[in-house]
Amino acid sequence: MVYKTKEQKKTFYGSGDWISLRLEALERDNYECQECKRQGLVTIDSTKTPGEKKQIVLNVHHIKGIEDHPEFALELDNLETLCVYHHNEVHGKGFKAQEPKWDDEKW
Ligand SMILES: [Zn+2]
Ligand SMILES: [Zn+2]
Repeated sequence: MVYKTKEQKKTFYGSGDWISLRLEALERDNYECQECKRQGLVTIDSTKTPGEKKQIVLNVHHIKGIEDHPEFALELDNLETLCVYHHNEVHGKGFKAQEPKWDDEKW
């Protein structure tokens, strides 16, 4: 199987196999972002104020991407629960923020 095109990925992420495995990964990780956990951060907000529930969106990330490693697409060991923030970071969207700034000081 290949997951190169948008359509192929869409089919994969809509498949029953993925949906149930994704749940398994979430349960294994206690619905916690594994990266937050590694950094000692708390991701799970208590829902003390019912009207103001903060929704934490968790993603199940493929450690080895399905494009390059379709053979691991349905391996529980290849999955990791991440919050949206860390998921974006891992995919490079947060990269800019980590670039060293050389124009901090102007002289
Ligand atoms: Zn996180
Ligand atoms: Zn991912």
